[in-house]
Amino acid sequence: MEKKYLLNDIVAAMESGELQAYYQPQYNAKQGVIGGAEALVRWVKKDGTVVLPKDFIPILEEAGQLSLVDWFVVEDACKTIKQLGDRAVRISVNFGREHAGDGQFIEKLNRLVESYGIDKYYLGVEITESDVAADKEKVMNWVHDIEQAGYMVSIDDFGSGMSSMSFVKDVPARILKIDRSFLNDNCLTEKGKITLESVFYFAHRLNLITVVEGVETQEQLQFINTCDCDYIQGFIFSEPVPKGDFITMCVDEAPVEIKTTDPFDDQSAVFEQVRILIESVYKKFPVIKFANLSKNSYTFMRRENFLNSAIPETGTYDDCLRSVVDMTVPESKDEIEKAFNRKSLLDAYAAGKKRVLRIANQIDEHGNVHKVAIEDYFMENPRSKDVYIVSFLQSLDFEDGTYV
Ligand code: C2E
Ligand code: MG
Ligand code: MG
Repeated sequence: MEKKYLLNDIVAAMESGELQAYYQPQYNAKQGVIGGAEALVRWVKKDGTVVLPKDFIPILEEAGQLSLVDWFVVEDACKTIKQLGDRAVRISVNFGREHAGDGQFIEKLNRLVESYGIDKYYLGVEITESDVAADKEKVMNWVHDIEQAGYMVSIDDFGSGMSSMSFVKDVPARILKIDRSFLNDNCLTEKGKITLESVFYFAHRLNLITVVEGVETQEQLQFINTCDCDYIQGFIFSEPVPKGDFITMCVDEAPVEIKTTDPFDDQSAVFEQVRILIESVYKKFPVIKFANLSKNSYTFMRRENFLNSAIPETGTYDDCLRSVVDMTVPESKDEIEKAFNRKSLLDAYAAGKKRVLRIANQIDEHGNVHKVAIEDYFMENPRSKDVYIVSFLQSLDFEDGTYV
C-alpha cells in the first residue's frame, strides 16, 4: 500500500484533536428505530477533509500505536452514552487483537465506565473474525473475560476471511456481524440468497444476535428482512456521522421506513418459508412426537397441552404409549392400545399403510375430558433401516358445536 501519511503526522493529528469518533447507527430491522451504533475513527483535517481509517490505521498498526486510537474512541463512546442519557443505545468499539495481551484491558474499560457513570450494558466490544482465527486460544479467553465482565462482544466481519463457522461456534460472543461480502450479488442470485439465509439460520440456532453490515440497496434490505435479521448497519439508512448528528438522530427518534415483503413473494426465501410452515404446524398440533419404532424410543418436538406433566420428554415408546392409554377414557383404552402398540404399527407399515389415525377422549389431571385425534405417520430415514413415526395430536374439542 502506498503510504500517504507518516506516523508523526497521525500522532500530531491525534494530539491536536483532529481524530474524531464518528457513529454509524444500527437499525432494528423490524421497527426501523436505532437500536445500537458502531464508533468509527475519522481523521478530520483542519480544512475539513475526512481521512478514512484504511489510510492511517495500517500505519498506526505497523508502529504498534493503534491501541491509542482505540482507547480514544472508546472514551468518546462513553461520553456519547452519557450524553444520550435515557436515549442511550449500545455503542460498540473496534479493538484489535493486540489488546488480548493487555492484562489491564477489562480494568481500563471498567474504570472508564465508572468514571462516566454509565451502564456497561451500553458499551460493546467488536473483534474481527480474522483476529479470532489468528490466535484462537488467546482471543477466545479474552472474549470470555470481556463477556464475563458484563460487556457484549461482537464478532466483526464474519464471513470475510479465512475463518469459519467452526471458529464462531466456540467464541463466547453474543453478537455476530455479518460481513457485507455476502451482499455482493445485491441479494439477487439464488446461491447468494441461500448462503446468506444459512448464515442467519446458523446464527440464530446459536442464539446469536445478528447485525448485517453494508446494506446499501432496497433489494438487499428486502431479502434480509425475510432472514429474520436483528439489526441493520449500512448506508441505506445512514453513513457514519459526527457525534452531534448521531445524538440528534437518537433524540429525534424518527423511525426509518422499512418496507417488508412477504417471504412468499420470494421463491427462494426457503428458510423463512419453512420456519412459518413449522409455526403453523405447531399451531394446529399442540403435541408432536418423534418415535423410532425399531429402537423403542421417542422424543417430543413440541408439547403444549394437558399431556405436559403426564409423560416425560423422552423414553421408551412402550412407556409413552402406556401413559397415553392411561389417560384415555375406559371405553377406548383397548382400541388405542391395539392401534398404537409397536407391533401393530410395524405391521401397518409393512402392509404399506401411510398412517394410523384414531380419535379418542382423554382425561387431563383435573378430570376434564378432551376429544383428540392421534395421527401417526410412518417415515423412513435413508441412512437407516429403522422405522420412524411422527405422531401428531390434534385437539378436537368443540364449543357450541364449532370445531376449535
Ligand atoms: P468495520 O469495523 O467492519 O466497520 C464497518 C465499516 O464498513 C466502516 O468503514 C463503515 O463506514 C463501513 N460501512 C458501513 N456501512 C456501509 C455500507 O453500506 N457500504 C459500504 N461500502 N461500507 C459501509 P470505516 O469506518 O472506513 O472503517 C473500516 C475499518 O477500520 C472498520 O471496519 C474497522 O475494522 C477499522 N476501524 C475503524 N475505526 C476503528 C477504531 O477506532 N479502532 C480500530 N481498531 N479499528 C477501527
Ligand atoms: Mg467493526
Ligand atoms: Mg465489520
